[in-house]
Amino acid sequence: MKAHDGMYIDGAWRPAVGADTIEVVNPVDEQVIGRVPAGTAEDVDIAVRAARAALPGWAATPPAERAARLTALRDVLVARKDEIAETVTAELGAPLPFSQMVHAGVPIAVAGSYAELAATHAFEEKVGNSTVYQEPVGVVGAITPWNYPLHQIVAKVAPALAAGCTVVLKPAEDTPLTAQLFAEAVAEAGVPAGVFNLVTGLGPVAGQALAEHPNVDLVSFTGSTAVGKRIGATAGAAIKRVALELGGKSANVVLPSADLAKAVSVGVANVMSNSGQTCSAWTRMLVHTARYDEAVELAAAAAAKYGDRIGPVVNAKQQARVRGYIEKGVAEGARIVAGGPESPRDQGYFVSPTVFADVTPDMTIAQEEIFGPVLSIIRYEDEADALRIANGTVYGLAGAVWAGDEAEAIAFARRLDTGQVDINGGRFNPVAPFGGYKQSGVGRELGSHGLSEYLQTKSLQF
Ligand code: NAD
Repeated sequence: MKAHDGMYIDGAWRPAVGADTIEVVNPVDEQVIGRVPAGTAEDVDIAVRAARAALPGWAATPPAERAARLTALRDVLVARKDEIAETVTAELGAPLPFSQMVHAGVPIAVAGSYAELAATHAFEEKVGNSTVYQEPVGVVGAITPWNYPLHQIVAKVAPALAAGCTVVLKPAEDTPLTAQLFAEAVAEAGVPAGVFNLVTGLGPVAGQALAEHPNVDLVSFTGSTAVGKRIGATAGAAIKRVALELGGKSANVVLPSADLAKAVSVGVANVMSNSGQTCSAWTRMLVHTARYDEAVELAAAAAAKYGDRIGPVVNAKQQARVRGYIEKGVAEGARIVAGGPESPRDQGYFVSPTVFADVTPDMTIAQEEIFGPVLSIIRYEDEADALRIANGTVYGLAGAVWAGDEAEAIAFARRLDTGQVDINGGRFNPVAPFGGYKQSGVGRELGSHGLSEYLQTKSLQF
């Protein structure tokens, strides 16, 4: 798609206040593929005013009509799914089949789920002598990352619109074209002017202005824990609602009774998918000492098959960061059994799918989020040891448990300090609550739990 040189505000594409732009680069060949405006605090202010002005009308729109607009939005995303996949591939570098299936497919499912929820959710209930109304929180400032560019947008905007909120979106610098395409889709779906607004720009400029804006009622942020902490502190000082979806360092716990070959092959695929740029990726594989060597051999063979087919990471900075972590792993005594710090290509921000063995739980690569195709395999002695290692990071976003017996896996999963656990390779569920324990975040996205983030209650007593 062709880049817009304006912002989508109050139902129209308008020129930005300043003249600065952001270059969009294709990570496969490092070529500039477009430019978008770098919004300022003034652009954010104009967008927030538009969202505020549209709020009373949208909040009062019957849920069935809001549902109809969301159904129309889902239909536009379906009609434009090839263009979505091509745009994500161009600015993120993901292989096209993955963009088609995941980057375009998942947001369609999520938009559809909120069309349904808007139509069926009980926005009003009787509690004893009270009627309790669930009302929209107000104007939402949504700040999203680049790793799943459309999914992260839809996971915020669709429930916000379903709830009756209005939105100003500040998408990631690396993937603004997908956000512009989404704004076109919102317009095509007949969502009234001002209900959804888009300001492209830099995080510390436009993002910060949005997070600090006094007329924003809820800041919904997905991104790094470092920025999330600042946004949380700003929101706290203003007694403002905040939802934070942050980093992760999830454990893939292979219990001794598990089907080892399946656990390892699915585990490696999970980490390599999207070039490792998935906050919920199971980047630590925990294997019992009796089966450790076998697991390492299987994982090394599985990773080697990917070669450079996984696509690059998003930009040069990310590539350097991931390579730095690989070098740090070696320096701290871990053993590379697949991949390594060298890029498999001369051009593009590629990183070799890398597997480390002999990783101990306190090593940097076992504690910090790498956000690249790097798997650490850690040995445990018994179940108590596995649990201590699995829970031994500041994060708690996701995880996996494999066991011969489902009940055994469930019992272990219930003791994990984490928001989501896949049992024996359980499938992604677009309506299951998604979000973190501990420093992985505050609040939940997706399904009815995601909708609740955008609602506040009012009780009338009779
Ligand atoms: P990031 O925190 O640098 O950026 C995320 C967004 O915040 C971008 O839109 C950016 O422009 C904006 N931003 C940056 N500085 C800001 C500031 N001072 N004020 C306001 N906004 C600001 O993160 P990233 O590098 O884009 O994304 C990768 C990180 O996101 C990883 O740590 C990953 O784990 C996390 N993530 C988490 C989830 C989740 O659901 N938990 C999902 C995807 C990504």
